[in-house]
Amino acid sequence: MNHTVAVIGGGYGGSLVAKELDSEADVTLIDPREAFVNAAASLRALTRPDWAHNAFFPFATLLQRGRVIRDRAVSVDPKGVTLASGERVEADYLVLATGSGYTYPAKPNHASTSIAQQLDDLRETYGELAGTDRVLILGAGPVGLELAGEIKDVWPDKYVVILDRTDQLLPGFLPEVRDGLRHQLDALGIDVRLGAGLTALPTVEAGRAGRFAVTTHKGEQIVADIWFQAFGVEINTGYLADGCLSPLTERKTVPVTGRLNVQGYDHIYAIGDIAALPDPKMASYAMTHADIVVKNIRAQLAGDRPDAVHAPTPERRILLPLGTRAGIGQLPTPDGVAAATAETVYQRKGADLFTARFASRFDRA
Ligand SMILES: Cc1cc2nc3c(=O)[nH]c(=O)nc-3n(C[C@H](O)[C@H](O)[C@H](O)COP(=O)(O)OP(=O)(O)OC[C@H]3O[C@@H](n4cnc5c(N)ncnc54)[C@H](O)[C@@H]3O)c2cc1C
Repeated sequence: MNHTVAVIGGGYGGSLVAKELDSEADVTLIDPREAFVNAAASLRALTRPDWAHNAFFPFATLLQRGRVIRDRAVSVDPKGVTLASGERVEADYLVLATGSGYTYPAKPNHASTSIAQQLDDLRETYGELAGTDRVLILGAGPVGLELAGEIKDVWPDKYVVILDRTDQLLPGFLPEVRDGLRHQLDALGIDVRLGAGLTALPTVEAGRAGRFAVTTHKGEQIVADIWFQAFGVEINTGYLADGCLSPLTERKTVPVTGRLNVQGYDHIYAIGDIAALPDPKMASYAMTHADIVVKNIRAQLAGDRPDAVHAPTPERRILLPLGTRAGIGQLPTPDGVAAATAETVYQRKGADLFTARFASRFDRA
């Protein structure tokens, strides 16, 4: 009889583990969504409705042998998972990969789990955005910056202002990367104001058209027609809060060992944004974790000692397109990290926002 593996969450990390182990074990992938969401593509999916479908990859085409259950985990214990429907899935190995939520449109609305619903949401917000002249983005992290770049790419004449209460752009990245970013934002006419916390949030709902004014703590007044929230990552570990497995950290992440086992369990792993690791919360790290877990479960399936160990890296990397024509990056080299050219950022991310890579994972022709 085959061994069983249950993967909870089919994001960047979980879908990779499920796919890789599909031929060697009986895999069950659990996710409330109809499709994998390539979050890196979600901001262009907002500004280009004809292209938006590219951000979604149905789970139906991921596995050859395994099954996909469209449901949400509500509790996990050492033997298995309890789902919102009440169904139990017990397995020899469990991989927790439930990632994080981010405010829409960077990640989909919580309640929108079908592709059709998610595309409807994006089309509706596009309709609100298209007719506006002045766009306010709160948060000057990578998500806010990318959103501004995508908006300017489609509507160069819209006024786009980004406010952030911190006083540095991309802290921790190389000075030449940060200078290059400033230069490109100026060239695109994106108004970034730092040290600019607001006295109160806009009175209009995020993503809805309607003129409003906000005031910064410095007393500046900004008038805009629509706004987007680009801050506030939420780690998806509520289903572990009942303590049937291990206690979570203060940040609601899951403590893991070097082999990425949940502390205390050789047959349970946690990867990606939910793992309590110093790695940045990025898809590239979730996929690195997935590779380690695949190696370890493969060894266990073969009756060998699992010995793949994850070495968290202090190096900061980023590919940050500003639409299809500009962007900055920082990538590892044999001599440490270095700035990437706009051409490299375009080729590695900006051109298709990783669509081709996931088309191959999900067997999309
Ligand atoms: C706009 C944007 C752009 C980004 N660009 C990049 C980039 O260019 N490069 C990069 O490296 N990173 C990027 N990131 C970060 C990246 O998206 C995250 O780090 C990544 O999604 C984490 O992957 P994960 O596998 O941990 O989980 P996720 O991709 O978050 O997937 C988690 C999955 O678990 C499911 N789930 C949640 N709760 C449950 C539950 N209770 N039961 C079952 N299933 C559940 C969800 O439906 C989801 O499918 C970007 C993020 C955003 C928002």
